[in-house]
Amino acid sequence: TAKLAGRACYRIYCAADTEQGRYQQRLSEALIASLKTAPEEFRVVYQPQYHLASGQIAGLEALLRWDHPEFGSVSPSDFVPIAEHRGHIHELTGHLVRCLLADLPQSPGRLLPGLRLAINISARQITDSRLEALLKPLFQRIGGIGWLPEIEITETHLMHLSVPCLDRLREFGRQGVIVAIDDFGTGYSSLAYLHTLPVHVLKIDRQFIQRLGEKSRDSRIVSAILGIADALELEVVAEGIEHEEQYRKLRELKCHRGQGYLMARPASWHSLNGALIDQHQE
Ligand code: C2E
Ligand code: MG
Ligand code: MG
Ligand code: MG
Repeated sequence: TAKLAGRACYRIYCAADTEQGRYQQRLSEALIASLKTAPEEFRVVYQPQYHLASGQIAGLEALLRWDHPEFGSVSPSDFVPIAEHRGHIHELTGHLVRCLLADLPQSPGRLLPGLRLAINISARQITDSRLEALLKPLFQRIGGIGWLPEIEITETHLMHLSVPCLDRLREFGRQGVIVAIDDFGTGYSSLAYLHTLPVHVLKIDRQFIQRLGEKSRDSRIVSAILGIADALELEVVAEGIEHEEQYRKLRELKCHRGQGYLMARPASWHSLNGALIDQHQE
C-alpha cells in the first residue's frame, strides 16, 4: 500500500506540476501581450512609510499591480520574475514610470515637502544601460514636487552585482537618489561587502518583523541589524508591521522608519492624497 500511495502521490504531483507549468506558460504569454497592447491593465499603488518616533508620514513606496481580464489581479511576486526571465523588465518599469508620472502633480502645491518616493528596481535591470534615461523624467518630477527619489533593490541579488553596476548605483547616489536594500536579512550580504556598497537604507524583511514580540531571538536579530546600520551610518526601515506590539518594540529599538498594514495598506494615489497634504499650509 505504501508503494501504491507513493505512486498515487507521485502521479498527483506530476499532474499538478504540468498544470502549474501550463499555467505559468499562459501567464507568461498573457503578461507579454499585456505589456505590448494593454498598458491600462497596469497600475500603481502606494504604501506610506512613517517615522516611528513621531508617527509622521516619511514617504511612499510605489508597488505595481496587474489586473488581467482572465487571470484577475496577479501579484508582482508572480509577474515581476516572469518579466525578468523573459527579458521584459524594461517595459514593465516603463509602465511603472508612466503610471507614476500620470499620478504625480507637476508642482508641489500643498503637498507635504521632503517625502520620499521609493520604487523597486530589479537588480538585473541595474545592468541595463537604458535604465538611467528611463528613470530620469520620474526623478525630475519627484524633485519638482520637493520630494526625494529612492530605489529599492532586493538583497538576494545584490551580491551578484558587478563593478559597473555598483558604479551605476553610485552614480544614482550622486544624483541624489537614495538607495535601499530591500528584504534585508534574507540574502547574503557580508558585513565587509555591505560596507563597500553605495547604499543608504536597509529595509528589514517582513519575516523578522512578523515574529517580533513572539520570540526574543527575533528581536535580537532586529537589534543586531540596527547595530550594524548604526555602525555603517545607514537608515533602517521595518517592513510588514501588522501589530501594535511590533510597532512598540521597533520604536523601543529605535528603528527609524516603518511600513505595514497596521498603519496603512497600499492604496491609489487618489485615495491617499488627503494624507499627503500639508495641513499648516493654507
Ligand atoms: P517588497 O518591495 O518587499 O514590497 C513589500 C510587499 O509587502 C508588498 O507586496 C506589500 O504590499 C506587502 N506588505 C506591506 N505591508 C505589509 C504587511 O503589513 N503585511 C504583509 N503581509 N504584507 C505587507 P506586493 O505589492 O505584492 O509586492 C511584492 C514584491 O514585488 C515587492 O516586495 C517587490 O519586490 C516586487 N515589486 C512590486 N512592485 C514592483 C515594481 O514596480 N518593480 C519591481 N521590479 N518589483 C516590484
Ligand atoms: Mg520594496
Ligand atoms: Mg521589502
Ligand atoms: Mg519583503
